Amino acid sequence: MRVRAFSTGRVRPKHGTRGVRRYLPGGWSDETLPVNVFLIEHPAGLCLFDTGERAEAARRGYFPWWHPYFRLARFEAGEADEAAPQLRALGLDPQDVRWVVLSHLHTDHVGGLKGFAHADVVVHAPEWNRARGLGGRIRGYLPQRWPRGVSPRPVELDGPGVGPFACSHDLVADRSLLLVPLPGHTPDHVGLLVGAERPTHLLAGDAFEDTAELERTAPAVAAFCRERGVAVLTTHGLGPDGRV
Ligand SMILES: [Zn+2]
Repeated sequence: MRVRAFSTGRVRPKHGTRGVRRYLPGGWSDETLPVNVFLIEHPAGLCLFDTGERAEAARRGYFPWWHPYFRLARFEAGEADEAAPQLRALGLDPQDVRWVVLSHLHTDHVGGLKGFAHADVVVHAPEWNRARGLGGRIRGYLPQRWPRGVSPRPVELDGPGVGPFACSHDLVADRSLLLVPLPGHTPDHVGLLVGAERPTHLLAGDAFEDTAELERTAPAVAAFCRERGVAVLTTHGLGPDGRV
């Protein structure tokens, strides 16, 4: 199965990652990071893993001013950077996306959802519950920006495990696309293991930024990917050549 990666704009973090100074105005990094999404060309249909950010997120007033989370990163994106226009630029019809799998529900993973209201939008049930309502807003989600007409299908990871993963959700019922737990960044964050019996890719979302963090935080997953030759791809770092 072919897996394509493309970035829905860039995110510019603050210099440094600690201390209260980072909440003051200015101090933006010279470097920007991609906001990657991944498209799997499965024989049964196209599957999009995460939907990236939307152009409106680059405008003033999109994020609640009171929330510290949104003062640490700035999105830089135009309309053409959104997931649906990017698919069209690749010669694909967004209407042909059959499934959207969301690693978790932070804004830079769900911002492009409005272009995929027709799809089967799959989310881990406890992540969906954490992200909703006032509690979700306080935790740094933006449920108020969830697009109208898009209703996700919450699923449980109640299928059998694979490799270092204790459980899974089998998206296509042939174990070719498995949602697997990759907790940490959020408690119920998931990854997608592509080609399960002979896996080729682990789409890891925000579970880790680079291979060093993967080795440190999930050594069993790192060893599995290394031994089986599984490419690990992440939202803000590891690209198509990102083998562990
Ligand atoms: Zn996140």
